[in-house]
Amino acid sequence: MRERSAGANGRGSDAPLIFESGSPGRSGFFWPEEKGAAELPPELLRDEISGFPEMGEFEVLRHFTGLSHLNFGIESQFYPLGSCTMKYNPKVNEVVARLPGFALLHPLAPPELIQGALELLFQLERMLAEISGMDDVTLQPAAGAQGELTGLMLIRACLAERGNPRRKIIVPDTAHGTNPASSTLCGYEVIQINSNKQGIIEPAAVEQVMDESVAALMITNPNTLGVFEKNIQAIADLVHRRGGLLYLDGANLNALMGIAKPGDMGVDVLHINLHKTFSTPHGGGGPGAGPVGVKAFLRHYLPVPRIQKRDEAYELREDFPKTVGRVRSFFGNFGVLVRAYTYIISLGADGLEETSRMALLNANYLKKKLEETFHLPSTEPCMHECVFTDRHQQKQGVSTLDIAKRLLDYGFHPPTIYFPLVVSGALMIEPTETESRETLDAFADAMISIAREAKENPALVKGAPHTTPVGRLDEARAARRPVLRWEPRKD
Ligand SMILES: *Cc1c(COP(=O)(O)O)cnc(C)c1O
Repeated sequence: MRERSAGANGRGSDAPLIFESGSPGRSGFFWPEEKGAAELPPELLRDEISGFPEMGEFEVLRHFTGLSHLNFGIESQFYPLGSCTMKYNPKVNEVVARLPGFALLHPLAPPELIQGALELLFQLERMLAEISGMDDVTLQPAAGAQGELTGLMLIRACLAERGNPRRKIIVPDTAHGTNPASSTLCGYEVIQINSNKQGIIEPAAVEQVMDESVAALMITNPNTLGVFEKNIQAIADLVHRRGGLLYLDGANLNALMGIAKPGDMGVDVLHINLHKTFSTPHGGGGPGAGPVGVKAFLRHYLPVPRIQKRDEAYELREDFPKTVGRVRSFFGNFGVLVRAYTYIISLGADGLEETSRMALLNANYLKKKLEETFHLPSTEPCMHECVFTDRHQQKQGVSTLDIAKRLLDYGFHPPTIYFPLVVSGALMIEPTETESRETLDAFADAMISIAREAKENPALVKGAPHTTPVGRLDEARAARRPVLRWEPRKD
């Protein structure tokens, strides 16, 4: 177990706020006596800044280093946050993204001067098209959710040109919340359909609501329960027969690379989450990229500018009359695109397939190790993540939230909880391919140990966490009325 967090200076969370630290007269830097202040224009000088801490450079450094040790990330411990794919992000990606030719590139530089960057983007589009089985790709959207909106705009543009943009989008009950949100933002009404006992969509459920008013069905495969939608081809046929299109939320591509292509399953449009599947540090609102792949018939509607290759040179072209326009400034989140390119190139086709196979193996390994202790809502084999519930632990009055909080005492980031919404008390575990067997075993041991505690000493689990700087927060109030002053725990 982790000791109560202590920063590098042994103070950590007990440290006072920086505004309560220091002492009058201390400074990180002194101007030479004879020069300095006297030479600065008076309007730049201030005698005193009220409440400003006076500290030595070293004290400042210790303060912030101490705080940084309270942070939790993929480089500190196991981070099995389902749906988010918190895999390790290889450092080579960072090295390449920081090459001056990429990092210092001016977004308004003319194409002749940025041929290398354009070539990288062009090739990344081709590689993503190959991996997903689509014909063309735009790299502009800055997140999965923006990819969804862009994809739906393409669908709307295409159907409008055919004579009727239609009014509705079908979204399964297992979908990520962004799917109905994007549909609404794009002016569509959302029709929800329910998954069956195994957690997948039956063609019959689609047939009941599919008619000429439906523009598209949005499906996630593997879905948010970590289960493969094996009826996807039949569902695609049903939707197409009534003139609709099939949208695939490809955030879970980590399970499919090199094994199966959504483009072979009847999918017309999809988005890919580069920050998840193709490794960019994300979370806490970090940068992302949600490229959109399309079948050839939708290519005229793609956002501009598009990167085209002519006579061995790359150019940015805007002359596509049916385009939906621009969805993001410049080239999208370029740094994320460089990382994804580097990741794909460094792994190669075999490496990508191995990555997905390992992701599946790790999730199934954890599923097997935990299935006797925790209730499994779906009996289908899982893909890259598995969902358990708190049904057995509820008998002792211990809930998913209690289990998640207790995991913090064991030094693990909890899985995603209470999602997907269709599963009561869900614990959604995504181990990712980068974790070793030892880590998976240690996590499984912690989960089994917590289940034992739930039986023998439920109060211990219900009172968790016990070892973190703060106990349970009122999360809504913590966000709305944050109290930034630290107070020692009473227990
Ligand atoms: C993460 C995720 C999204 C949204 O992606 P963002 O990049 O966070 O906008 C959509 N669908 C699924 C299934 C996801 O896991």
